[in-house]
Amino acid sequence: MFQPVNSRVNFPQMEDRVIAFWKENNIFEKSIKSREGRPRFVFYEGPPFANGNPGIHHVLARAYKDIIVRYRVMKGCYVPRIGGWDTHGLPVELEIEKQLGFSGKEQIEQYGVEEFNKRCRESVFKYLKEWNNLTERIAYWVDLEHAYKTMDNTYVESVWWAIKQMWDKGLIYQGYRVTPHCPRCGTTLSSHEVSQGYKDDTEDPSVYIKFKVAPVESRDCRKSSELVKYLGGKPAYLLAWTTTPWTLPGNTALAVSPAADYAVLDGGEEYLIMADALRGRVGMEKYTVMSKIPGSELVGLKYEPLFNPHRFAVERRRFQRQSGLSAQQAQDDLTYKVIAGAFVSMEEGTGIVHIAPAYGEIDYQAGEENGLDFVHPVDLQGRMTGSYPFAGRFVKASDPLILQDLKSRGLLYKSETIKHTYPFCWRCSTPLLYYAKQTWYIRTTAIKDALIAGNKEINWYPEHIKNGRFGNWLENNVDWAFSRERYWGTPLPIWRCGKCGGLECVGSIDELKRKPGFTGWKEPLDLHRPYMDDVTFTCGKCGGQMKRTPEVMDCWFDSGSMPFAQLHYPFENKELFDKAIKQADFICEAMDQTRGWFYSLHAISTLLFNGPCYRNVICLGLVLDARGEKMSKTRGNIVEPWQIINKYGADVLRWYFFTTTSAGNVIRFSEDQVAEITRRFLLTLWNVYSFFVLYANIDKYNPSEKSGVATQSELDRWIISELNQLVMDVDKALDSYDPTDAGRRLEAFVDVLSNWYVRRSRRRFWKSESDADKLAAYHTLYECLVTLAKLLAPFMPFVAEELYQNLVRPAFPEAPVSVHMADFPVADMARIDRRLSEDIRLAVRVSSLGRAVRSEAGIKVRQPLAAVLVGVRSSREGESLHRVAAQILEELNVKEVVVVAEASWQDKPGYRVSAEGDLKVAIPTELSPELQAEGMAREMVHRIQTMRRSAGFEIADYITTCYQGDEYINKVMTDFAEYVKQETLSRQLVTAVPGLGVYTEKFKLGGHEFLLGVKKEAI
Ligand SMILES: [Zn+2]
Ligand SMILES: [Zn+2]
Repeated sequence: MFQPVNSRVNFPQMEDRVIAFWKENNIFEKSIKSREGRPRFVFYEGPPFANGNPGIHHVLARAYKDIIVRYRVMKGCYVPRIGGWDTHGLPVELEIEKQLGFSGKEQIEQYGVEEFNKRCRESVFKYLKEWNNLTERIAYWVDLEHAYKTMDNTYVESVWWAIKQMWDKGLIYQGYRVTPHCPRCGTTLSSHEVSQGYKDDTEDPSVYIKFKVAPVESRDCRKSSELVKYLGGKPAYLLAWTTTPWTLPGNTALAVSPAADYAVLDGGEEYLIMADALRGRVGMEKYTVMSKIPGSELVGLKYEPLFNPHRFAVERRRFQRQSGLSAQQAQDDLTYKVIAGAFVSMEEGTGIVHIAPAYGEIDYQAGEENGLDFVHPVDLQGRMTGSYPFAGRFVKASDPLILQDLKSRGLLYKSETIKHTYPFCWRCSTPLLYYAKQTWYIRTTAIKDALIAGNKEINWYPEHIKNGRFGNWLENNVDWAFSRERYWGTPLPIWRCGKCGGLECVGSIDELKRKPGFTGWKEPLDLHRPYMDDVTFTCGKCGGQMKRTPEVMDCWFDSGSMPFAQLHYPFENKELFDKAIKQADFICEAMDQTRGWFYSLHAISTLLFNGPCYRNVICLGLVLDARGEKMSKTRGNIVEPWQIINKYGADVLRWYFFTTTSAGNVIRFSEDQVAEITRRFLLTLWNVYSFFVLYANIDKYNPSEKSGVATQSELDRWIISELNQLVMDVDKALDSYDPTDAGRRLEAFVDVLSNWYVRRSRRRFWKSESDADKLAAYHTLYECLVTLAKLLAPFMPFVAEELYQNLVRPAFPEAPVSVHMADFPVADMARIDRRLSEDIRLAVRVSSLGRAVRSEAGIKVRQPLAAVLVGVRSSREGESLHRVAAQILEELNVKEVVVVAEASWQDKPGYRVSAEGDLKVAIPTELSPELQAEGMAREMVHRIQTMRRSAGFEIADYITTCYQGDEYINKVMTDFAEYVKQETLSRQLVTAVPGLGVYTEKFKLGGHEFLLGVKKEAI
């Protein structure tokens, strides 16, 4: 006997019961342990931050991770998997700053780094309970008890080890370069962090500035005689364009394209010089072209700076490589010059590019190459320095004042605004500034070829990421700016001598402790700031004191180190890692990690172990709201995972994520679709299951008795064929990391199982002609449901367990305790019958089209029809149709199937036609009196059956049926008496006024009024 199944199931409650069962029986642990000694499948968990509530997109990632791993376990793999938590970096620090009401680093320093970091540490797991609850509730099986944390001393020590390896290979250096800098957070960001914070439609100034050409007698000028003509009388200006006015005080050169033509324009009062090709864009209609000269002739021309560099409290120096000028000369010379630049664009601007070597990578290089002045009038908080009116303001806020100043001096030609894409800090949304400053780099460009070669070994899902998003990222690799001028992070294990400036990198606690003169160590051990800042030792070269360089590390370096750092490698688990864990078979995160975790994993692994550390990666799309808008607190359109799970259950949410679109595509989250899946798929499955259990219990069906299988009908053989085909397809799709395809095939199967197999087999279960046929039907449906439970287990772990526990465990006590410990089904190719499959598919199509044309003609399915005409394209299709004609007759309630070759198809009068694709179906719309009477008999049967249910009779109860009506009704009931009795389990039909204990209803149909009554018979 099976446990009775409630057809009005509450899925969330059912799931809670399953979770309790798993917990009580340690099913997760057992499912891993039972595969010990089998081939290992390695999965890496990308660590999330637990200092915020988990969102719906976390459910997406966790469901995808889970399905692949569960599948592998069922395929026989040993898959231990531990969770992990990201704990360091700006996301944590900013949260604490917000709590404390801080707006920058000065306040943190005043507050004290020790106390600040203590708070960071405490806040890291603020939402741990929520994370653990959700993880359990959605059945993401991962070991959270032994989860790694990037802030653990063991973890930090492994990261130090990694840095030391790179240090020894000469891959770590401190560089003075232009780097993206967040002025609020006061730190450099890496290129992958920058790539996460671009905002479209950022409004910025778009201004055209006039730079006054210096008097002609300057000795550097190689100008042509043509140009000299215009540099005597009226003032002449070089016109340049910029979107960052705040960089203008740092201007020390203008660049032109030597090959392009430049126009000298006369505006009456003045001459303007700009690229000829761009005149139309800038709108120089009022100016007359006096002359055109090549850019090369402008090179060397001198102009006056817009602002006096001496009025800034600035770092001002001159690149020494080529200039050879003394510092005094640099101080005195207050003109700048025009240089040649291959980078000058003829697509936008004026063809004259403003160069500020402190604020742009190209500018910095141009400075080095041309020996330009270096003027940096902005501090690290992003404020202008010096004595101009805009001093002390944040750069973006000083833009208008700078422009006002230029305008008052007649140097602003035109001022507009543009919308463009600009990078913002990914954590605090402050616009990033590009500064020249000291930063620690990992020389990833040295291994660029290896990064690209390694990517060739990785399978990306979707595939286009490989050479697209990820491949491009690798092609454009720049060195990894991995130091952060912050507090809560893995301290950089580099010490610097206060006397000789010598550097030493430390790769372990032990190594540090063995340094000569080692001091400042505190117990209990904490490898964070400020404790590590206090650790000093003696310089090996000069005997000076070595102090730690103050920076901490990019938190993406932490997470990218998880393959080895989670195991405290190489200090522990060395053999295990080297042999078994060095490369993951599978990882999965969202698309934004292409430049985050996916990159840092790949870069670190290539740097340390010369190869990629993952073989297969599923890259998930963003989850937006139903209208395609980003979910955000301010928009108020965030979908809380619990709200969906408590209403529909976790299974259906998982299913939605797997099947709504392929991995990698954007998901527009729609609760309506979740509800729709519940109705269309989950409830259909559930109804088949509850139907089976209901009848199996009535018939005391025992699945462990194997007799009767030999008498399978064609219908049985067909669904078993479809089932084996399904097993093959689902297995193949999951093996190819494609849950979407697998899920859609399962949906299609459940649909035909319910709407064809069960519907057409229904009567076999309650009044089969033979016991053997009934048993065959039970065996077949049982096999379908049990196989489905196993196929569904990785997708819908709850409903699969529910089915398995009820259908399998009582009958087969020796079977695995849980569906998640069962083996994945294996397709039996011998049971796949392609011809039968094609036949039934045609029958299904013809029937559905036939029903459609009936409904168009307004003829109910209960009304028998003389014939259905089906147009076929080939004799093969005709034969197929003959083989399934009997099923079509029943389905469409017609007396004959007429096959018509498409070539001789003619629309006949009195017929109604419907076509779908290449298939054509027609039915006669006129009815003979005989057919009408038969239709009436069927209507009566339908009503009696409904009344049986309304009266509360059991399905197997025998009844007496009474009726009262006109002559026509009496005739129908007499003519079709046997049929009515059989269909309604009536022992007798009587024309009588019903007495006591009879359930009655009145009807009116086709102009005839009648009364029906049903009464249960004594057994
Ligand atoms: Zn920031
Ligand atoms: Zn020294």
